[in-house]
Amino acid sequence: MKKHNFSAGPSILSEYTIRNTSDAILNFGDVGLSIMEVSHRSKEFVAVMDQAQALFKELLDIPSGYSVLFLQGGASLQFAMVPFNLFQNKAAYLDTGVWAAKAIKECKIFGDVDVVASSKDKTYSYIPKGYKIPEDADYFHITTNNTIYGTEIKEDFDVNIPLVADMSSDIFSRPIDVSKYALIYGGAQKNLAPSGVAFVIVKDDILGKVERTIPTMLNYQTHIEKESMFNTPPVVPVFAALKTLEWYKQQGGVAAMHKTNIEKANLLYDEINRNKLFKSNIADVEDRSIMNVTFVMEENYKELDAAFLAFAVSQGMSGIKGHRSVGGFRASIYNAMPVSSVQALVDAMKEFEKNN
Ligand SMILES: *Cc1c(COP(=O)(O)O)cnc(C)c1O
Repeated sequence: MKKHNFSAGPSILSEYTIRNTSDAILNFGDVGLSIMEVSHRSKEFVAVMDQAQALFKELLDIPSGYSVLFLQGGASLQFAMVPFNLFQNKAAYLDTGVWAAKAIKECKIFGDVDVVASSKDKTYSYIPKGYKIPEDADYFHITTNNTIYGTEIKEDFDVNIPLVADMSSDIFSRPIDVSKYALIYGGAQKNLAPSGVAFVIVKDDILGKVERTIPTMLNYQTHIEKESMFNTPPVVPVFAALKTLEWYKQQGGVAAMHKTNIEKANLLYDEINRNKLFKSNIADVEDRSIMNVTFVMEENYKELDAAFLAFAVSQGMSGIKGHRSVGGFRASIYNAMPVSSVQALVDAMKEFEKNN
């Protein structure tokens, strides 16, 4: 039996994505070769790249004037590429977790960073509110979903300066108003593809304003002009991304994904609330992520931590151990996770409560 995959990343992909990608690894369409051994300049692969970009734009309803890029180096390289391409005098960042902090660290290489607010004081268990964004900053950077802690910004902010978002772990989980962002990026390995590719949605007219010389590979302009084919792209992850995008479309698009995601999140949070053994890590219901659900044992049942983990594993659950910095449990319930897997976890929690 295949396990219920609650891994935070690399993480669950749709069966459609995995089957079609493994088929193409054996035999890529009519080419008579594996996708791993054909030129990225072949018309067949160029079509894959074109379709992936087009479907990405279609599903997120991306307005004209934006480019979609598939790059290597993961979200972590974007932490540096963003300031390389956009930082002039000062940037503003919201510190909502370790990933946000890593983005801040890279930006500091370029100069003055205004960290407008941080939730580090409470192990990043909430989304700060009521801060002021400096009008003179070049851009404001947020991390919409904090994968490790289970908090999420679920609305598109209205800000007066260009808005940049790391959406590694919640892209395609809800409809977004791309027009409110100057740039959105993320690693693919949570909601899109195997690791090896990052996506970037960039508003073309925010580029070309910095004075510094940007190395060719780190310049967004290079990849816009060459349509993500300046050098050899990660062909298998891009192919898999296309398959996931096709699957999203078959499911009814992002709005339908969002509906199912809310259903899954409610199912799990309701059980965490109801079950006497568990509690949520995130006090403010509004801040609770619909992608990464973190929870811990109630005070009186702390000693059952390892026993629950072992029981869950015996029931076919994989990847629910919490991040080492948070402890407890984390169930990542990304887009590809079926309601039935969340139900299986809920059933295991109920069963464990009965036995204890
Ligand atoms: C996983 C993750 C990253 C890191 O992605 P890499 O592709 O491994 O660099 C960055 N930000 C967030 C929010 C993540 O979840």
